Amino acid sequence: MAIKRVFVANRGEIAVRIVRACHKLGLEAVVGFSEPDRSSNAVHMADRAICIGPGSVQKSYLSPERLITAALGTGCDALHPGYGFLAENAEFAALCATKGLVFVGPDADAIRAMGNKLEARALALAQEVPLAPGSVQIKDLADARACAVQIGFPLLFKAAAGGGGRGIRIVADDAGLSAAYTQAASEAQAAFGDSALFMERYIADARHIEVQILGDRHGNILHLGERDCSLQRRFQKIIEEGPSSLSEAMRRDMREASLRLARHIGYFSAGTMEFIVDMQRSEFFFLEMNTRLQVEHPVTEAITGVDIVAEQLRVAGGQPLSLRQEDVALSGHAIECRINAEAPARGFAPAPGRITVWAPPQGPGIRMDSHAHDGWVVSPYYDSLLGKLIVSAPDRAQAVRALKTALDEFRIEGPETNLGFLRRVVGHADFAAGRFNTQWLERLVPELLEVAA
Ligand code: ADP
Ligand code: ADP
Ligand code: MG
Repeated sequence: MAIKRVFVANRGEIAVRIVRACHKLGLEAVVGFSEPDRSSNAVHMADRAICIGPGSVQKSYLSPERLITAALGTGCDALHPGYGFLAENAEFAALCATKGLVFVGPDADAIRAMGNKLEARALALAQEVPLAPGSVQIKDLADARACAVQIGFPLLFKAAAGGGGRGIRIVADDAGLSAAYTQAASEAQAAFGDSALFMERYIADARHIEVQILGDRHGNILHLGERDCSLQRRFQKIIEEGPSSLSEAMRRDMREASLRLARHIGYFSAGTMEFIVDMQRSEFFFLEMNTRLQVEHPVTEAITGVDIVAEQLRVAGGQPLSLRQEDVALSGHAIECRINAEAPARGFAPAPGRITVWAPPQGPGIRMDSHAHDGWVVSPYYDSLLGKLIVSAPDRAQAVRALKTALDEFRIEGPETNLGFLRRVVGHADFAAGRFNTQWLERLVPELLEVAA
């Protein structure tokens, strides 16, 4: 089942990334694009591009029928879903297989097993992967009250079907329980069509650490070390880096737990095990597994030299991974920033519009993954990600300095972006010292915005 022509069923920077990996391996890439994405760099770089519909995601990137018809009509034998959209939709993965398209990702059963956070927790528990104290599915408010007594405050409501930080609510005390329950359930229903919730103890002084996994269909499974994604706003990552600063012992235990769980479900392709680390108690807990390529995968590529997308394509074609665990060596330090078209001063509202000047930084140790160019129009239909800036250097201090320089050099004119905000975050003494947790950025937002004003 060697693959020759890959359909890229996504947009933006990740479509560009996938086209590059195809070309590196000598594969053809066909990009399916929506009307507003016609001038994307991904379309420009592809061997062929085909319009799959209008701006509305329901009629384009979220339409299994349109994507599969376009892929088959252009003679593709494989389909890469990227991240977001249909990347973690088990039915879509199964449908691709039925139609004779190799889905570049894990099999539908693995996606299904990990797609529901409650089921993933149960699997993790059976494999002795540590879990934060939490509940099974909450039946009603009375049930939530009873569970809260067991778990203790503060706690979180989480959507079982959740992703992208949606359907999560922090509850400080009993008084806030009822409102948070209603809000989380309705947000989960709106975002995922599934209002099922569970509860989890909220770790206040925490880091978000994740382990990158790669597996093939020949039983090989390995890890590529961890990333620290603690710099978040509204449960969404903004800056990610690797390697993490955890103790060697915790890194080892976390990697072993990740491999145990991945092996248990017979996982292949790229995947990520996410953990929350209680910094006060030096304990880690499994959060979820993302059964797809992750936004921040370039951090790992920079410190391991492994091309994760190329490995995904090899594995999809039935080949073994090109490396073994003993070949994996971490070197240097990498940091990624998500560059968004948004207005920090207006609550980070999306800022669509035409980019008149797009001048990203260049030079040694700098990687820019983006679909944007001079004249690119940021469309209101999609998320605000314009691209990712990744810097690498021999150690963290040098990486921080390189990132500051790169952000200073970066020039975007047209819609508002978060560049200024990122410069102030990266210029902060706590960031330079690595003194932060998952709350740090959010707490600092007012102060960082004030400096700007
Ligand atoms: P990562 O886990 O790779 O860091 P995010 O959690 O930020 O990435 O999500 C990656 C992308 O996928 C984002 O564009 C986000 O909006 C989208 N996304 C995440 N989860 C879902 C979901 N369940 N349904 C639809 N889109 C999602
Ligand atoms: P999603 O599927 O939306 O990415 P996650 O379970 O991965 O949901 O959680 C998103 C973010 O919420 C995490 O990166 C972390 O910052 C925060 N978070 C999740 N669970 C906890 C917890 N138990 N304690 C503290 N923070 C948490
Ligand atoms: Mg997550």
